[in-house]
Amino acid sequence: MTVRSTCPYCGVGCGVVIRPDGQGRVTVTGDPDHPANHGRLCSKGSALAETLGLDGRLLVPRIAGKDSDWDSALDLVAQRFQHCIAEHGPDSVAFYVSGQLLTEDYYVANKLMKGFIGSANIDTNSRLCMASSVAGHRRAFGSDTVPGQYEDMELADVVVLVGSNLAWCHPVLYQRLAAAKERRPEMTIIVIDPRQTATCALADLHLQITPGADVALFNQLLVALADRGALDPAFLARVDGFDEALAAARRSADAPTGLTERDLAAFVGLWLGTERVVTVYSQGVNQSQQGTDKVNAILNCHLATGRIGRPGMGPFSVTGQPNAMGGREVGGLANALTCHLDIENAVHRQAVQTFWSAPTMAGQAGLKAVDMFRAVEEGRIKAIWIICTNPAVSMPEAARIRRALAACDFVVVSDCMADTDTTRLADVVFPAATWGEREGSVTNSERCISRQRAFRASPGMARQDWRILAGVAARMGWSHAFSWSSSAEIFAEFAALSGVAARLGSDFDISAHEGISPARYEALAPFVWPATAERQGGRFFGAGQFHTPSGKGRMVPVTPAPAPVTDLPFRLNTGRIRDHWHTMTRTGQSPRLSAHLAEPFLEIHPEDARRRGIEPAALVWVYNTHGRALLRALITDRVRPGEVFAPIHWTGETSAAGRIADLVTARVDPVSGQPDSKAAAVDLQAFKAG
Ligand code: SF4
Repeated sequence: MTVRSTCPYCGVGCGVVIRPDGQGRVTVTGDPDHPANHGRLCSKGSALAETLGLDGRLLVPRIAGKDSDWDSALDLVAQRFQHCIAEHGPDSVAFYVSGQLLTEDYYVANKLMKGFIGSANIDTNSRLCMASSVAGHRRAFGSDTVPGQYEDMELADVVVLVGSNLAWCHPVLYQRLAAAKERRPEMTIIVIDPRQTATCALADLHLQITPGADVALFNQLLVALADRGALDPAFLARVDGFDEALAAARRSADAPTGLTERDLAAFVGLWLGTERVVTVYSQGVNQSQQGTDKVNAILNCHLATGRIGRPGMGPFSVTGQPNAMGGREVGGLANALTCHLDIENAVHRQAVQTFWSAPTMAGQAGLKAVDMFRAVEEGRIKAIWIICTNPAVSMPEAARIRRALAACDFVVVSDCMADTDTTRLADVVFPAATWGEREGSVTNSERCISRQRAFRASPGMARQDWRILAGVAARMGWSHAFSWSSSAEIFAEFAALSGVAARLGSDFDISAHEGISPARYEALAPFVWPATAERQGGRFFGAGQFHTPSGKGRMVPVTPAPAPVTDLPFRLNTGRIRDHWHTMTRTGQSPRLSAHLAEPFLEIHPEDARRRGIEPAALVWVYNTHGRALLRALITDRVRPGEVFAPIHWTGETSAAGRIADLVTARVDPVSGQPDSKAAAVDLQAFKAG
């Protein structure tokens, strides 16, 4: 028997083939037929078979720390949520969910909160990952649409990677890019990153930009393109806002970027001389107090030159999590409605309410992640259900989140792991099924929807998340709307709703799968949306048709934001390493993966280390008013003086060193609500024993 599924880690969304041996072991290989990876896997995907152990799994529902049963736990959660809603209104409760949920689970959570509880207080850890891209897309395109496909990176003559350590964070895309460059050595790769990352090994040009200077750099590019006649007048006729965007760009013509004249000229020269340009961007752009403006500064250059939605051309946001994109499609963000509809639009809300036969409907956007936990802290949210994520270690100012959850009236957590910093703070913990046990689908960064399939039974009493949500919904009186018997039925309903949304102008349309049978769902091959009777996959916007009311694209005037004022001397950059995923609950089970980088570390420039008396491999405290962590000093000129870097993976559960997210300031981009996770102000102190 073989089972085709999708890797549960990053947003590349690679297909895998699983071969159980009948003795409880499996082998996992890359799926040669999957369009994302064509058989390739990275180190994490290759080690999936080593990470299926049941150590630490949560096997039974728990109430107040004691083992319980499903009926008692579901009854209690339904009662407590109903009580809060009756006493304090629907906005007194919240769901905090995850880009690692399958689309079907995500859809059910969103339907329950927005259509039946009647609040939009559902947000997701994807807020920490790509919310700025969503906001930037909406401003420029009128919809949250990724214009291109992965093959555009292979077809481009210039690939610009901005704030994206593709080699470690999207490794199979990096492999595809490296192979393309080997086939076509004339391809030029530019890396824009303050840090010298593993991705620089492929770069023809590394622009070691001043942190946060992305808006200044792309504004200066826009001015150069305009002044040297490199615009596309025919395409610009299909774009609003050019004059305002260019005027704003001129105002920041002298803003510092940290680059030499020569480097800047080389960057501009490559854009001037090349039609096929793809700009890939990721967390270095999104996780910023000015993330949305950075996204629009990039999009402006592509819109002004018509380099969008054609082979080998376009801006390309790559998502961090395996189903960040699926979460966007179901409306799992507090300021979104399902199927890319607009929560602020009464016609859209009414259409969804009618489709769901929902008794009520959220009338406006809910609280975004940081604001949601503020509301918990202030007692405005009295009951919160956290699903498939661990905010007690991953949210900015995580110590504050732990205090808020400890003081909250009622905390519910659904997780596959028994003992996390978040489950410890819960009144009720539901045992959730995980990868290999769940049936559903995910969408990767290029809009490709793939099935995740089960190949083994859930251990103990664990259940898939949508079944847990439906169990609570039924006890709240809504069994008629939550009575599916399989993930296939949920997908069929979602596909039918996408057809309704498309008739209202939504770009997200998978109505070709409306009413899909369980057998067809079981056999469903990966496909890129839109998927309708008339159209399957492809690119968007190449013909200058956008989803704004005018049908035109929009250039957005943006100017660089001033750096936050601080009296602390170092700027802490955070990120992933190659072989671990988030808080390592899965990858930590593989000795092979843990051998790559075995412990948490802090990259420090040699000049800073000398000034602070920090020896190579010594322990060093990194701290600010929010918390502190003890890390091994890695002295390297990969970072610039005044900047330090630490990986995000080690937590209170895996290291006594402390949690990096404790140090991250909960300062957010005002448009997207995404935290500024790459710019915490910190200080350092060499560790002294005793
Ligand atoms: Fe999994 Fe991402 Fe690696 Fe592909 S690139 S195997 S999706 S972790």
